[in-house]
Amino acid sequence: MLAPGATIGILGGGQLGRMLAMAAVQLGYRVAGFAPAGENVAVEVSGWFWEADWSDDKALGEFAAACDVVTWEFENVPLATIAALPAALLACPARALEVAQDRLAEKQFAEQLGGRAAPHARVESEEDFARAIERIGTPGILKTAREGYDGKGQWRIGSAHEATGVRLPGQRCIYEGMVAFEAEFSVILVRSRSGEVRFWDSTANHHEGGMLAQSTLPAGALIEAQVPQARALAAKVAEALGYVGVLTLEFFATRDGPVFNEMAPRVHNSGHWTIEGAATSQFENHIRAIAGLPLGSTATRFASIAMRNIVGPEALTAHQILAEPGEPHLHLYGKREAREGRKMGHVTRVGHPLP
Ligand code: AMP
Repeated sequence: MLAPGATIGILGGGQLGRMLAMAAVQLGYRVAGFAPAGENVAVEVSGWFWEADWSDDKALGEFAAACDVVTWEFENVPLATIAALPAALLACPARALEVAQDRLAEKQFAEQLGGRAAPHARVESEEDFARAIERIGTPGILKTAREGYDGKGQWRIGSAHEATGVRLPGQRCIYEGMVAFEAEFSVILVRSRSGEVRFWDSTANHHEGGMLAQSTLPAGALIEAQVPQARALAAKVAEALGYVGVLTLEFFATRDGPVFNEMAPRVHNSGHWTIEGAATSQFENHIRAIAGLPLGSTATRFASIAMRNIVGPEALTAHQILAEPGEPHLHLYGKREAREGRKMGHVTRVGHPLP
């Protein structure tokens, strides 16, 4: 068990790091952050913060010397950065990052464990793309295999004719058949150092323009019926990776069962409702897991819950939400630049308490 006063290192400085840091501080830990220069909103809740390139070995050495354990809030931390840290500091094996950084690798990983993914093909050339369109058909989505998020690095392909006009982005891609889904959901679990696994309830996730807009509970009968199968896959993934902490798998709920989309080896936007809506939040349980503390209950506390993201300039007037009925819980991430499409905060509304 990590003693009170010990320092938890967090790689990445965004809102997830900020909320992890808040949970760590509440449990009596100190936080050291590390991320490249930018609007690192975790800075405000970190005792120390290194703003340096992922390849800055000197800064990484100083960061490592300050930490008792290291975790991440961003799945695209370069593997070379992780390798530069003393292995004993890592809360979770780096294999989780390696798999999740690549859309092809994560789909293969899930398939090997019995999961079902959308039909997909690797695309590295015009010929690959033509073959993929022929085999999988249209509509579909071309995605960069690495580094895409929130709908970025994705191109929807409506027809074979449309595909001929597409310029490949010059990096390895994946072409996926469009899944005719009824709904989307995620499975969020926490796994302790000793292998104990707990799940939060799965919300229905509503996306706009490829980005999460809202997560709601109850998720509806269709999703609820598919959660056990999705959880079984998520547990196998966590076990196979020797995972420690919070892990998220995203699924499409289709008429013939759950289809795996992608995984995030970290706390997730669709789990922000757990701060007020669950007995223990995803942030606190992540910290508990990596610190070797007992896990907290993941039980849902309210009959209905809705978490909505606050995106772009809406954040400038978001404090007005506090005057709305129903005691909404507002979280603003402290980002100064309210750019269009940027996640600036979220608001959670809860219904009646569960007995
Ligand atoms: P992703 O970055 O893979 O999570 O994609 C973002 C969102 O785009 C998903 O949550 C879906 O709403 C949509 N999407 C991505 N891939 C597919 C697919 N193969 N079929 C249908 N919708 C998709």
